[in-house]
Amino acid sequence: MPSIFRPDLRLHRVEQIDVALLRRLHIDALLLDVDCTLKPYRSQALAQSVVDWIGQLRREGIGLCLVSNGRGTRVRPIAERLDLPLVAAALKPLPHGCRAAIARMEFDPRRTAMVGDQLFTDVMAGRLAGIFTILVDPIRPEQEPWYTRLKRPVERFLVRGVAHRPRGEEPSI
Ligand SMILES: [Mg+2]
Repeated sequence: MPSIFRPDLRLHRVEQIDVALLRRLHIDALLLDVDCTLKPYRSQALAQSVVDWIGQLRREGIGLCLVSNGRGTRVRPIAERLDLPLVAAALKPLPHGCRAAIARMEFDPRRTAMVGDQLFTDVMAGRLAGIFTILVDPIRPEQEPWYTRLKRPVERFLVRGVAHRPRGEEPSI
């Protein structure tokens, strides 16, 4: 697989990204995709496990910023509910949204990871921005718009050789 599409780490859910894992990876800031990463595309509802996970990372001092391709009017309520900063209309896979978030939050790009559910937006944007990338399985992908669903079989093909890391397993990085 071309490295531009290769996530550094593949997990099933964001909740698997715990502080112990981040410490081992020397990461202390996360850029978070919103749709299908934190919540289903057509829902504004956040799972309690995701809200709790955000709260836990915040208490541990992990920097957090949402980076979404969604329009601000649609994504901002989620940012407000989670009390997180937001870069909306980020135009991933272009790296500008990631870079803007890193600059605004004064994150160290060497210690920042992009977390998302799509190779062709999140992983590619993170790669182009030169940061660590974590791919998670999409939440309820059947709700996505047709142009996203079209890309899913290609994405599954490209990541077929990248194993999921189950919770607790040491990443080989
Ligand atoms: Mg997404």
